[in-house]
Amino acid sequence: MPLPTELNPTPRFLMGPGPSDVHPRVLRAMATPVVGHLDPGFLQIMDELKVMLREVFRTSNELTFAVSGTGSAGMETCLVNLLEPGDEAVVCVHGVFGNRMADIVERCGAKLTRVDAPWGQPIDPADVKKTLGRGHPKLVAIVHAETSTGVLQPLEEISCMTHEAGALFVVDTVTSLGGTDVRVDDWGFDAVYSGTQKCLSAPPGLSPVSFSARAIEAMEKRKSKAQSWYLDMSMVRKYWGAERVYHHTAPISSVYALYEALRLVLEEGLEARFARHQRSHELLREGLEELGFEFIVQPEFRLPMLNAVRLPAGVEDVPTRRRLLQEYNIEVGAGLGEFAGRIWRIGLMGCSSTENHVNLLTSALRTILHP
Ligand SMILES: *Cc1c(COP(=O)(O)O)cnc(C)c1O
Repeated sequence: MPLPTELNPTPRFLMGPGPSDVHPRVLRAMATPVVGHLDPGFLQIMDELKVMLREVFRTSNELTFAVSGTGSAGMETCLVNLLEPGDEAVVCVHGVFGNRMADIVERCGAKLTRVDAPWGQPIDPADVKKTLGRGHPKLVAIVHAETSTGVLQPLEEISCMTHEAGALFVVDTVTSLGGTDVRVDDWGFDAVYSGTQKCLSAPPGLSPVSFSARAIEAMEKRKSKAQSWYLDMSMVRKYWGAERVYHHTAPISSVYALYEALRLVLEEGLEARFARHQRSHELLREGLEELGFEFIVQPEFRLPMLNAVRLPAGVEDVPTRRRLLQEYNIEVGAGLGEFAGRIWRIGLMGCSSTENHVNLLTSALRTILHP
């Protein structure tokens, strides 16, 4: 067999649901020398990374770090460490990622209660309230930015009722962190996870997480071991904490990438970054509506970083996306689940959220649709 050719992927403009474009500084950071994971220099990087993550999550939670694995590993970390067999859990489902949480809850052997909303709409707090009145859930889990539908879920009211019911509030901020406001302490999140590949604009590979004191107490009171060895916080904590007890080997180059990506976030400033995401979204909306695309989410619940749109009549999904990729090197996302074949998901995340990206896509679409 001849040796495969040297790796040389075609550069693309990543305007789908993740990964997003990676900043050259992050790519450079990944190409710097790999050192031992207990090297004093690397321990310092881990410490500084935790400090930066607290700032981005807007939390003072001591237990804030990055799980080795993509966003789904963060999801699993939160759920497998908080739930024991027989516990009750409420999962709010308004898209693919809520469904994934529900699946994990069942795999934990917990008793699942779902609160559903139609795809393209947020969860109604009144529906959560009704459910809370009927049982004694240990936690309520919900997705902040539902990447499969483009919905931004308001959280404060649901957080309050969750705490009043004595339950922990678990939030997925994979797509929201770094692109829109996420306030872990002010909004009362007890366990929260994110991902590196969406608005933080690092390659996929790590999942930032943070746990409140109440969540730690719940983990410490477990009677059984967590179902996952790799994600067991009782051990992982000691690796990321002052003890540095070996558990697994942190993916060094991915940690470098997140470190530099967080420096870029803080250099820009959170508010400025959110404003940039909002501006790009508004510019894209104007361009898309002129071309006949329709947003599926009501304006007040639209995500700035993930635009879910119905295609204009007569425009075919797959051939048009293929042309965008082959002729313009632009990747946009297809619909998932119920929305497969019916919508596009256009991401403007992190480094992909610029006026240039928007203009490139809208002018390419103009050329393709109106030759
Ligand atoms: C992308 C995403 C995930 C999963 O992250 P992976 O990095 O694909 O494992 C989870 N939740 C939401 C809301 C996402 O957008």
